[in-house]
Formats: sequence, C-alpha cells, structure tokens
Amino acid sequence: MSKPSSLSGPLKPGAMIGILGGGQLGRMLALAAARLGLKTHIYSDETESCAFLVASATTRGAYDDEAALEKFAAACDVVTFEFENVPEKTAHFLSSYVPVAPNSRALAVAQDRFVEKSFVAALGIATAPFRDVASEADARAAFRALGGPAILKTRRLGYDGKGQQKVGNEEDAARAYASLSGAPCILEKFVDFAFEASIVAARGRDGAFAAYDPPKNEHENHILRRSTVPAPLSAASFRDAVAIARHIAEALDYVGVLGVELFIGRNGEIIVNEIAPRVHNSGHWTIEACAVSQFEQHIRAVAGWPLGDPSRHCDAVMENIIGEEVDDWLEFAQTPGGLHIYGKRVARPGRKMGHITRLSSK
Ligand code: AMP
Repeated sequence: MSKPSSLSGPLKPGAMIGILGGGQLGRMLALAAARLGLKTHIYSDETESCAFLVASATTRGAYDDEAALEKFAAACDVVTFEFENVPEKTAHFLSSYVPVAPNSRALAVAQDRFVEKSFVAALGIATAPFRDVASEADARAAFRALGGPAILKTRRLGYDGKGQQKVGNEEDAARAYASLSGAPCILEKFVDFAFEASIVAARGRDGAFAAYDPPKNEHENHILRRSTVPAPLSAASFRDAVAIARHIAEALDYVGVLGVELFIGRNGEIIVNEIAPRVHNSGHWTIEACAVSQFEQHIRAVAGWPLGDPSRHCDAVMENIIGEEVDDWLEFAQTPGGLHIYGKRVARPGRKMGHITRLSSK
C-alpha cells in the first residue's frame, strides 16, 4: 500500500481523519469534524478513551504496533494527533502511507525541551536562559552560569509541572538532577513574569495563518485553572505574540493548530516557554466565543480546507473542571456558560474532567 505524503486537494465531506490519542482534545476534534461532515478514526493505546465515545471508528493499539498502524493508515485520508508525546517514529512510520499533519519534525522539536528552546532561540525569539544537563556536574555548572533561582526540567515527557523542580543553589540543582534518576534535563533560569499567556494559531496547507486573541492563563498546582480573554496585553505585545507564533509555524512548515505558551514580563516583553504542536487547553473558549473554534480550525487545516475566521465576538473566561470537581456537574449546569464534560469514568486528582466557558459582551 502506498499513498502520497501530501493531500492532492481538500478532503471532501465523508472523508476520514485519523487522530492519534484519545483524550479530550481528540474528543473535541472529533465533534468539530462531525459538524463539517468529516469522519474521525481515533487510535489510542488506552482501553477507555473519552474520544472513542464520539468517533466514527476506533482502534486500540500500541504506538509501536506497525501492523495496527498500517491498517489504521489504510482507513484514513489524513492523520493528525492530539498529544505531543506520540512517538516521532509513529508519525514518521504513518507518513509513508498517509499524509500526516502537523509533520513529524514539529513533534520532534516540541518533545524535547532542549531541542525546542534551542530551535526557538535560533529564530531570534526570547526564551528563559537555559543549559543542557546530563550529569550532576553539569547541573552545578549550569546553575553557576545562569544564577538562581532556576528550574530543572526533564528534557522529555514533562507536562503539567511533572518532572520539574525549582532549585535555589548548586547543591539543590545537583540533588534535583540525581532525584530524576539520570534523565536528561535542562536547567532554566526562573523568569519573574507578570503573567502567563498563550497564542493559539493555525497555519493552513496553503500557508495561510490565523491567530486567536491571546488569553491570560492562570495555573494552580501546575495545571491550567483558567484562561481569560482578552489578556491585559498592549497592542504592541499582542502584535509581537502573533508574529512569534507565525515565525515558529513557518519555520516548522507547520499545518494545523499550535499553541505557544508565553511569559509576559513586567514591561510587556514576551518570552516563549513552550510550543504545543496541537490544539491547546487555553484555546477551549474559542468554541463559544468565535465562529470557528480551534478544533474546527485544526480540522480545516489538516483537511486542506480554507482556514476560518478566528475573530472573537465576546469576552470569555474558561475554567477547567479538575478531578472530583466534576461531581458538581449539576451545579455547573445551573450556572450560565458553555459546559463540556469529557465523559471520563474515573475522576483522578488533577485529571481534566471538563471545562466551562462563561461569556460576557466585548
Ligand atoms: P512547563 O511544563 O514548562 O509548561 O512549566 C509549567 C509551569 O511552570 C509554567 O506554566 C510556569 O507557570 C512554570 N514555569 C516553567 N518554567 C518557568 C521558568 N523558567 N520561570 C518561571 N516559571 C516557570
């Protein structure tokens, strides 16, 4: 079986979009695709995947099961993904059978914090000062070079604050490295930012680019609690943030929606924290506050359709519903706002179970 690696034209309604990953992002992508008359096939290694519940087809398989992946590819017209820790090898393998968007390079860059920060810095975009750390001696030297406080992070597989420790001196840095059992790390200087924001933007197959208004993002216990639009950004910072996202998307020849997480300094300066090569939690408000949500936009981009209008018709506050908070679903249902419950059976602490978006006039 052999398929071209790029689409020959826009997918027609009825076509099948494969999605690697079965979480809430895959679920909301599947719902958006359905609205456009497109079908989705979710591939996940989980037994219970909340995206399985809303898709046209599902495969439960490991990300290195080549026979299952080949069968999945044969059933799809294009393949995308909803989490950035899909092994790059999986995306690369699939791309010899079916167009994959975003490309596997975007995945590779975003999966390794050292590669990611080096890539962003090489584009002339500001990041926190950082150093590669592969030993306790490196951790000490990096701390001496950067000064404190600093944060030691594993290069790979960290999310929602997992695999990171704030360190205040050289010994702390060495101890933190030792506690991560030798996993390759980076040490980053701690940024004393005014607030966190993000840009959620899309690039189409034709190179068209569309950015949503950046939200201000507040975290609790390292998990996104709330995104508020508009963020208190000056017009100049707003333009800079959009230009940064566009620069990154173009440099990666990116197709689809990406999230760029930002620290906003006290004088409005912008520092890139990380790139998410997928739809992003801080863009969920676009479902209610924009004509075309980030999910529809991603589907449009990967299907070769024209991008939609990202403009915002009202102000919005999106709050995540985390862990057992979902037990209050009836209370949430009684308050104004767009309510989304992801249908996950077990409400583990810290697990994103749903979200609610409250709107107000602009
Ligand atoms: P990350 O996993 O890199 O997205 O980091 C999770 C959160 O930790 C961020 O959203 C920030 O709140 C905080 N954080 C990460 N890196 C830094 C840094 N260099 N300086 C200050 N805070 C940071």
